[in-house]
Amino acid sequence: MPSVDIAVVGAGPAGASAAIAAAQAGARVALIDEGIRLGGQFFRQPARPFNSQASDALRNHFRRGRQLLEQLDHPKIEVFTGATVWNLDPKRRLQLYGSHGRLEVRAHCIILATGATERSAAFPGWTLPGVMTAGAAQSLLKGHGLVPGGRVIVAGSGPLLLAVARQLLDHGAHVTDVVEATPLRRWVKHGVHMRRAASQLWEGVEHLQRLKRAGVGLHHGMAATRALGSLQVSGVEIDRVDERWRPEPGSTRQLAADVLCVSYGLIPSTELSRLAGCGHRFDTSLGAWVVGTDTNLETSQHGIYAAGETRGVGGAEAALAEGRLAGLLAAASLGLWGAGHASAVAEARAEQARLRAQTEAVLGLFCVQPGLADLATDETPVCRCEGVTAGAIRLAAREGARQLNSLKAWNRCGMGPCQGRTCGPIAAQIIASETGAHLEAAGCFTARPPIRPVPLSALAETATPHPTGTAMEDHAGYGRVVTGRR
Ligand SMILES: Cc1cc2nc3c(=O)[nH]c(=O)nc-3n(C[C@H](O)[C@H](O)[C@H](O)COP(=O)(O)OP(=O)(O)OC[C@H]3O[C@@H](n4cnc5c(N)ncnc54)[C@H](O)[C@@H]3O)c2cc1C
Repeated sequence: MPSVDIAVVGAGPAGASAAIAAAQAGARVALIDEGIRLGGQFFRQPARPFNSQASDALRNHFRRGRQLLEQLDHPKIEVFTGATVWNLDPKRRLQLYGSHGRLEVRAHCIILATGATERSAAFPGWTLPGVMTAGAAQSLLKGHGLVPGGRVIVAGSGPLLLAVARQLLDHGAHVTDVVEATPLRRWVKHGVHMRRAASQLWEGVEHLQRLKRAGVGLHHGMAATRALGSLQVSGVEIDRVDERWRPEPGSTRQLAADVLCVSYGLIPSTELSRLAGCGHRFDTSLGAWVVGTDTNLETSQHGIYAAGETRGVGGAEAALAEGRLAGLLAAASLGLWGAGHASAVAEARAEQARLRAQTEAVLGLFCVQPGLADLATDETPVCRCEGVTAGAIRLAAREGARQLNSLKAWNRCGMGPCQGRTCGPIAAQIIASETGAHLEAAGCFTARPPIRPVPLSALAETATPHPTGTAMEDHAGYGRVVTGRR
């Protein structure tokens, strides 16, 4: 069982910068990510060098990511890629499973930098081939240079919509429409807060201008309410929605489409922090639970820190600053506190606070609204793993299942391989809508190991010695990535 000073879970902007800061302070670090390549969502790197058709924006993006990831080639950092952490206990023992088998890592400190996942919506037709999340379309583009064929509609709410529509358009996709549920009048009302987020606002305006010039239809205050088609999406129904995203009867329009990309914002990934027994708080603008920390980014479990999107959606720049701060503070807690450490901490703290405040302004504009639950008809599947419909969830809520955990016992919602990651937030909204209680009252599913599907042999096996110094890979020249111990 390898033992390190600091284990960092997640190699996105937060985890990578945490690992670098901690190693530079003198800590022995294990950086673990279930992805084959490092970089997380934002700095996702291409499988092969991108062809000459990559836009300048994407090239810059890859370059910035590589510059960060190159710094991981540090003698004190050991990187485990393709390794899922499926269990974590309060004694800071992590269980990993990946292509190299099973491994247990023990650490004096842990930094959780597990990022976020996208919020899906359940509406008739959302399980048809051709419907995907906007982030999935973006991942295919960044990771493999692929864009969806045919007519593409991007729908939902939040800053990701315009960014993804623009990226797809720049890379040759035929984006016909963007459907944003947040009405324009909310932009006007919220305008004063957006002064704090001038750079994000400007970026959004640039995306809008580019989309308008390309003739993309922009629909504010509307939502995709039905994906049409039998074997594959052939069209989308959109409806006008009120400020709470409730569809207005009689406002339906049909748009032709071959692909529908949907995103209603992000939800922090908290499975590991829940498993470790850390305290969480409900974030009202996200409509989701985030791991709670003190001002030193330490959770309620001693020695377990959190940084980046798992603490609440803050954007990649905030994740970078916060990761750096977490790395410095975790190292300091182990007595690794050299010259210049205090000023580095102060600098990272100020940067983190400034950037977090900026994103709060943006998130306030795109708060998730209760009408999202009304998009699902009784026949709409919500838990795809277990085949539980919205009607079954409504019935269970009326019969007394007022929390996600009781719903699980009622009809197995959330018990499949995804462990409720996709259906949990939708089911919570349906319960809240049915009972009239606040979304927070629905709670969240209790996390149980394994948080990801692993073979039974991974649970049964005793820890096996791990090959040392094997399986070196070189990804796009950003440094050595080790799947074994160095
Ligand atoms: C689909 C999607 C698309 C996005 N697109 C944009 C965009 O275009 N522009 C923008 O500004 N922001 C975007 N964001 C937000 C952006 O991801 C963040 O601001 C930034 O990447 C957050 O960094 P992070 O390090 O906190 O998390 P992430 O970058 O998400 O990194 C988290 C890492 O943790 C790993 N991980 C999670 N759980 C485990 C586990 N159990 N075991 C091992 N590894 C684990 C994941 O594989 C991942 O690499 C997007 C987010 C998502 C989810």
